Amino acid sequence: RCGYVAIVGRPNVGKSTLMNRILGQKLSITSRRPQTTRHQILGIKTEQGTQAIYVDTPGLHKDGGKAINRYMNRAASSALRDVDIVIFIVDRDRWTDEDQAVLEKLQHSRLPVILAVNKTDRIDDKQSLLPQLEQLSEKMAFAEVIPLSAKHGHNVDLLEQQVLKR
Ligand code: GDP
Ligand code: MG
Repeated sequence: RCGYVAIVGRPNVGKSTLMNRILGQKLSITSRRPQTTRHQILGIKTEQGTQAIYVDTPGLHKDGGKAINRYMNRAASSALRDVDIVIFIVDRDRWTDEDQAVLEKLQHSRLPVILAVNKTDRIDDKQSLLPQLEQLSEKMAFAEVIPLSAKHGHNVDLLEQQVLKR
């Protein structure tokens, strides 16, 4: 079985970091600067007889007026075309207009979407996470909602299991 998994989200939420963590190598450039990933980057992971193709996409940009943003949006959108499942990454920190724009795109796609709430290592008060996750869960019918830290690897194995289950 071979699945095609797109990792999508606005710039800087940790898409490339997650991809590298899942694949166990530095395939995709990560950076504090947004727009470091300009093209689709593919990585294949074979495990227990299953194979998943992960696609790290450029961030989807709200400002589609600039040529570079248009180009990157096109790359991100075309990554959704042949996909079996989507990992939608957001930052635990806040929900922005750009997150909303990505969400609406995903709602239109009708693909199964796993919401990955990233950078949980930055949360001091872990109690605050639960109501936040509940709020995020209500935004659409996600297949799963998984809090994780791509940088430190927390819960990334759980995310992979959920991906392979489908
Ligand atoms: P992308 O634009 O969505 O591909 O985001 P990147 O993977 O390039 O990450 C953007 C920034 O967030 C980088 O400085 C990463 O080191 C940082 N980052 C990514 N994941 C985590 C995380 O789980 N925890 C923390 N603290 N920082 C993270
Ligand atoms: Mg990136």
